Amino acid sequence: MLIDLHTHTAPRSDDSYLEPDELIVQAKHAGLDALCLTEHDWFWDAGEISELCQRHDFLVLPGVEITTEEAHLLAFGLEKYIFGMHRASFVKRLVDEVGGAIIVAHPYRRHFPIGAEPEDERYYPALTRACESPLFQVADAIEVLNGRGSEKENAFSQEIGRKLNLSGVAASDAHSSADIGSCATLFQRKISNLQDLIAELKTGRFRAVNLAAESKRIAQQREGREQAPPSTSPS
Ligand SMILES: [Zn+2]
Ligand SMILES: [Zn+2]
Repeated sequence: MLIDLHTHTAPRSDDSYLEPDELIVQAKHAGLDALCLTEHDWFWDAGEISELCQRHDFLVLPGVEITTEEAHLLAFGLEKYIFGMHRASFVKRLVDEVGGAIIVAHPYRRHFPIGAEPEDERYYPALTRACESPLFQVADAIEVLNGRGSEKENAFSQEIGRKLNLSGVAASDAHSSADIGSCATLFQRKISNLQDLIAELKTGRFRAVNLAAESKRIAQQREGREQAPPSTSPS
């Protein structure tokens, strides 16, 4: 199942230009099987989520993107904002109490030296520093592909995942319709509800997919086939 784990809608996320209905229609159109609504420090009501699911005949799951002092955390299983959530360790404690899951969103932020190439002398010290951050101890997975991150930034996140042996997810972090369908996470097993999602996030039975790159590759292959001379069929 192809799921976008990280999206924002207006007006709940004040930096988003996407209405929830528009997001869902576009997600279906992009070939996704489900999506998670993860507003900034704002929790969806379970009733509203199930209304959206029914109206669109599409699986919508509730999550949240919590702004902590250390990083932005995508949390699954929590239901309301509690004072103290500005600390990652506190979020981790709450999530563990309810048997939820945490993904570190765009882990390159605050760590990646802007514009740096791996050849740059700042690159590997920054990577080492990032990996030493206790932040990653709270994570069930990290976002190795963020739809709004650059190729270099996401490559840095992938290096963090590799070094720390953390599972990697991909998500659009959509704030506008142009962001939808850029990337998503492919789960091996069927996910029907939030509990299934949390269980699968903890097993690591998924992989990050760059949908934009894949569709470009498929289009190029198709183009190549069209340009190639027709193959002769055996007589
Ligand atoms: Zn964020
Ligand atoms: Zn976000």
